[in-house]
Amino acid sequence: MKKYLTLLLALLFLQMSLSAMAAQAIPKAAAAKDMAENTFMREAIMEAMAGIHAGHGGPFGSVIEKNGQIVGRGHNMVLINNDPTAHGEVTAIRSAGKTLGSYDLSGCVLYTTGEPCHMCLCAALWANIDLVYFGCTIEDNGLIGFRDDVFDNLFGGRDQLQNYLLSLDREACLKLFEEYNSMERIIY
Ligand SMILES: [Zn+2]
Repeated sequence: MKKYLTLLLALLFLQMSLSAMAAQAIPKAAAAKDMAENTFMREAIMEAMAGIHAGHGGPFGSVIEKNGQIVGRGHNMVLINNDPTAHGEVTAIRSAGKTLGSYDLSGCVLYTTGEPCHMCLCAALWANIDLVYFGCTIEDNGLIGFRDDVFDNLFGGRDQLQNYLLSLDREACLKLFEEYNSMERIIY
């Protein structure tokens, strides 16, 4: 009986090892990046990937583009900085301000992997950013454990910014969210 149990355990271990190997064989980071059609969204996804694998925070990466050039980039750094305001969009806005030597980001477009929360949306408006492209929706953010949807219900007003907030490459960003969901992580 003990022999069978050992054999069963060995088989179970083998199966677990094989499925772990299969999971590793698929380069998920590359998959999500390659799925994005837009060059700047691809960069935003790569930012987010770097952030989650370094344990910096949630799967939120952003880049800011002006005249075809990336002038700012960043990812969520809430955990690593112990800073609840260090969302990807805010980090990228600060980076663009430094690059351009200006608080005025007129003529810039923000690309971000998740629909901005109210804090980031206001930061983009304060910065005079022309347009925001986002991958995953507020609801998607909620599905991976973040409270965006709760705050959004509280503050509302998003429907008045429909021409300012545009959806782009959601499928690729969902792959990023899936990868994050499969990792050991802290939700805040
Ligand atoms: Zn935010």
